Amino acid sequence: MSAPRDRSLFRGRAPGEVAVVGLGRSGTAVARLLGRDGHRVYASDAGDSSAARLAAAELAAQGMSAEAGGHDLARIARAALVVASPGVPPTAPPLAAARKAGVPVVSEIEIGLHYLPQLRYVAVTGTNGKTTTTALIGHLLRALGLHAVDAGNIGTPLAQLALGAEPPAWAALELSSFQLHDTPSVNPTVGVLTNLSPDHLDRYGDVEEYYADKALLFRNAHAGSRWVLNADDPGVLHMARQAAGHAWTFSTRGAPRAAAALAPLPGTGAPGLWIDGAPLMARDELALLGDHNVANALAAALAVYVADAGHQTPDARARMAAALREFRALANRLEPVGTYDGVEWINDSKATNVSSTLVALQGMRKPYVLLLGGRHKGEPYTALAEPFRRVGKVVLAFGESAPMVERDLAGLVPVERMGSDFAAVIERARELAAPGDAVLLSPACSSYDMFANYEERAAAFRRLAAGDAAC
Ligand code: ADP
Repeated sequence: MSAPRDRSLFRGRAPGEVAVVGLGRSGTAVARLLGRDGHRVYASDAGDSSAARLAAAELAAQGMSAEAGGHDLARIARAALVVASPGVPPTAPPLAAARKAGVPVVSEIEIGLHYLPQLRYVAVTGTNGKTTTTALIGHLLRALGLHAVDAGNIGTPLAQLALGAEPPAWAALELSSFQLHDTPSVNPTVGVLTNLSPDHLDRYGDVEEYYADKALLFRNAHAGSRWVLNADDPGVLHMARQAAGHAWTFSTRGAPRAAAALAPLPGTGAPGLWIDGAPLMARDELALLGDHNVANALAAALAVYVADAGHQTPDARARMAAALREFRALANRLEPVGTYDGVEWINDSKATNVSSTLVALQGMRKPYVLLLGGRHKGEPYTALAEPFRRVGKVVLAFGESAPMVERDLAGLVPVERMGSDFAAVIERARELAAPGDAVLLSPACSSYDMFANYEERAAAFRRLAAGDAAC
């Protein structure tokens, strides 16, 4: 097949072979999409799992070059474009080879957007709350009767949607800093910046570099752009200050002129969620723990509200309120997993940085044992001492970061240092927790020292909490 003349995909350069790095769900979908459009594709994966081999075989059967178990780096360096799957770190040899050879590297999202020119999307980035806010936005759009999907880091890869016969009209799109880095055409209907704090210091040289990627949300800002920003976070306002377009803000702390706010309701004076100067619902009707989740709900409702004038009618407001009432905590995010012998076990395994653990501690209302540790990501833990002291009983420091947790917190709060035997950590928590207490896994660290990922850590917590030692 001859290569199409569409040079925009190649960022103005001559079309040629596209190297797809990673044969997971999004890599496979992007390879199929490009192959269907007549591009020459070379897809490869360093892993040799049966899933990767199967994906390679399927692509090969469709006429593409594909291999599992390694990359042809010289071939990648000759490609006209490289598409990186989300899980592939920027330092991985195929991406390093591409960069060295001057080959542009883009994300799967960039390709998906290229093939979905009609798509209207709300893009969500920030340090914490991206997934929850994105899921809320998708849920609210569907509650308005729209054909909307969750995409990006959660839900379906955009490339897979582009392959479908009836692509959705709307998407709620979660974008990590790495994805933003490699998505030069990002130009959302509404862009949401939830909050900013240091994270990924293990993968970025310094915090400025990390923030610079986050700022790429605004790279194509124009007069018609719409932004939803956290008025309680000066870093967010600062980052967006020069972006063209119109900005609306949300606040849970009484910031002036916020278009979405947590404020007393008329009559009862009970806290409520307000949008555009009118009450939407009572705070208590939201089944999510912690004020950070009120911020996520306000951000999501505001983004959907400003996305289209049709979303601002009384009927639309009523549908949004009903949808927010229905929404439940996502797995691994302050998720209660069971009460055993009067002790409530709460799984916040997704809290992989200090700021997300901080909000978990702020939301706690009963005495608790905190499980803190894992692979250290570079931030100090001292900021956790004060919110912990309010109702916390003892910190169990575990995993690789245990010595650092102990160094930062000992003397400020009770800390016990444990090793990397998770079953022993859970048993110690069980001994220390009395009926009426909670045990909170909110580790502020990544899981990679002891588990394949945070989901596996959560699964072990869940099983061991229930008293199943066979794991
Ligand atoms: P992300 O996708 O950005 O990692 P999630 O919605 O998955 O965010 O939430 C991950 C963790 O971050 C939660 O367990 C919670 O502890 C914390 N978190 C969620 N929303 C916020 C917020 N708005 N502000 C601060 N921390 C938050």
